[in-house]
Amino acid sequence: MTIRVLSIASEAVPLVKTGGLADVVGALPGAVVAHDVAMTTLLPGYPAVMAGLGKTKAIHSWPALLGEPARLLAGTIGGHRLMVLDAPGFFRREGGPYVDGAGRDWADNGLRFAAFSRAAADIASGAVRGETFDIAHAHDWQAAMAAAYLRFAPAGEAPPSLVTIHNMAFQGHYPRALFDQLDLPAEAWAINGVEYHGGVGFLKAGLEAAWAITTVSPTYAREIRSPEFGMGLDGLIRARAGQVHGIVNGIDAHDWNPAHDPHLAAPFTARTLGRRAANTAAIEAEFGLAPGTGPLFVVISRLTWQKGMDVLLQGLDHLVGCGARLALLGSGDKALEAGFVAAAGRHPGRIAVRIGYDEALSHRMQGGGDAILVPSRFEPCGLTQLYGLAYGCVPVVSRTGGLVDTVVDANLARSRRGLPPAYNSTR
Ligand code: ADP
Repeated sequence: MTIRVLSIASEAVPLVKTGGLADVVGALPGAVVAHDVAMTTLLPGYPAVMAGLGKTKAIHSWPALLGEPARLLAGTIGGHRLMVLDAPGFFRREGGPYVDGAGRDWADNGLRFAAFSRAAADIASGAVRGETFDIAHAHDWQAAMAAAYLRFAPAGEAPPSLVTIHNMAFQGHYPRALFDQLDLPAEAWAINGVEYHGGVGFLKAGLEAAWAITTVSPTYAREIRSPEFGMGLDGLIRARAGQVHGIVNGIDAHDWNPAHDPHLAAPFTARTLGRRAANTAAIEAEFGLAPGTGPLFVVISRLTWQKGMDVLLQGLDHLVGCGARLALLGSGDKALEAGFVAAAGRHPGRIAVRIGYDEALSHRMQGGGDAILVPSRFEPCGLTQLYGLAYGCVPVVSRTGGLVDTVVDANLARSRRGLPPAYNSTR
């Protein structure tokens, strides 16, 4: 029997991406189809999504969805079903999905993603003629309120809900005043409802309401039970431990395949690994690094505290002193951006930095780098180390979260922790 799932998310490749959430949401429908799961993805109608849509059909409308007119468009994405919530008042604006052109959060983010979640709950509970779903699967805080709407105010018969935590650090907290705009019954304002420290907690509300909770690796599922990683929600996670499951992320093996990656100077396979050298040379030339002189480390990351970028920055002079080279692609914290640019200035030919976001370049770096550094302080799963594994760019990672579950440690340190000798280095 085919299981019909509505996957509700604020981003998905190839239409809109700010991080790993988009990669996973975009890859999921193709990954589950072999298990007889038919997944429909619901996205907000940002300009990039509207521009990237092929043929669509309007299948439903809301005269006032939390105050704004909206309609639902149905189309396809990568051969799988796609629904787009076209609510111009909430989503048709230039800037990012969550921030304006200057990098500030949109002031109405709470209302925007509540409306998105309200619409998702309507769709999942049968408001759209001819559309029925067995499971509503909400990703992260931007969609988590869908589970709360299904619990407190479904449009019809509510299917079971699943909330996936891609990063516990982002929770969607808003003042009490927002509650009055959410169109939820008074009983939702409760400690086991949407209330969180006197305000509204979107992720918290979703985790309370969901039938099941998943996160993106087994280690992170354990870590978020602790105050250090649970970010205030560890008590809730402990209380719901029986419904919390860690399932490690996968990658889209079509988009991320070095054998036929259109971005690579020289596509290669495990048998033709020698061709990789041409990709390394291309990266050296592109970044202006001294060719062939020491290991070429790459970083493709948000430049933030979570990603341990401050730690890397502190160690850079030492790393270069040991003979290493570094090519970094990223953006984020302005002080970190400036720090890396300054380090490149101190070490021309050894360190080169691109501040910005460049999908094609990220592929080329995985194809040409010797090792990818992921020094995260916490990492729910992480995807760049998985791409590194697929591309022969050896991941050098912190021992945290999904990095533990996806990167096998094969050095002496492992033997010191009493792990199987089969993995020990012979040094
Ligand atoms: P997170 O979602 O926490 O940022 P992940 O490792 O799960 O971290 O996913 C990050 C995704 O974003 C990966 O696909 C990575 O290649 C991509 N990425 C991050 N920074 C950049 C950048 N500056 N340019 C291109 N891709 C980037």
